Amino acid sequence: MSWRCSGRSNAELVENMFRAELIRSPRVKAALLRIDRGNYVRPGTDAYADSPQPIGCSVTISAPHMHAECLERLEPYLQPGDNALDLGSGSGYLTAAFQHLVGPQGKAFGIEYVEALVPWSITNLRRDGFGKELDDGSLQLIAGDGSLGWPDKSIKFSAIHVGAAAPALPKPLVDALAAPGRMIIPVGVANQLLMQVDKDEDGAVTARELTAVRYVPFHMKHTEVFTP
Ligand code: SAH
Repeated sequence: MSWRCSGRSNAELVENMFRAELIRSPRVKAALLRIDRGNYVRPGTDAYADSPQPIGCSVTISAPHMHAECLERLEPYLQPGDNALDLGSGSGYLTAAFQHLVGPQGKAFGIEYVEALVPWSITNLRRDGFGKELDDGSLQLIAGDGSLGWPDKSIKFSAIHVGAAAPALPKPLVDALAAPGRMIIPVGVANQLLMQVDKDEDGAVTARELTAVRYVPFHMKHTEVFTP
């Protein structure tokens, strides 16, 4: 039961998720110990509760166990030097985790639809000690429609995460996946499923349903849909 993982500190929250086997990889555990969720929530909310918290503009930071699930799935594709893309970056928390995992030679980029959240998320990242990465461009957060992918189409990403539920698979994001690469994306409107989309070395794409989830909608009005 995920709510049992709540803690009084970041370390306690992470330890509880590790004990409950929601976190299994030592690299994911180290990243979540390094990134303090307390720097990514609004004052007066419960940073170390294993539940979503309001971050303003009708948006929530996702629950820690959902962040852990997505990181565990993406970890093999978040190796030092890899490129990672986080769509619906919100608080900046997961983008920070991506940056920590891909290291100084890698890149972690985020796109957030609600413009007002972007400067706040950048403040969060600086407070959490990511000033150097923001300054050298290895960590970037921009406002925009993430369903269209990162503006520079020449960059391919071995890990892509979508933090909101898409009505269908966005083609620009499948195109932006490196070969090999993996995307974790909730898909659906009334009934949503977390999907794992894998691209192999030869560019072949397979999609697998993981689990039922509930996310806010991912805007994709002008986006071509991927059809296998
Ligand atoms: N993962 C983030 C936020 C999750 S909430 C965190 O944990 O802090 C999902 C976010 O997706 C919201 O901030 C919403 O504004 C954003 N979103 C929805 N559609 C989007 C789109 N097309 N492009 C970028 N962001 C989008």
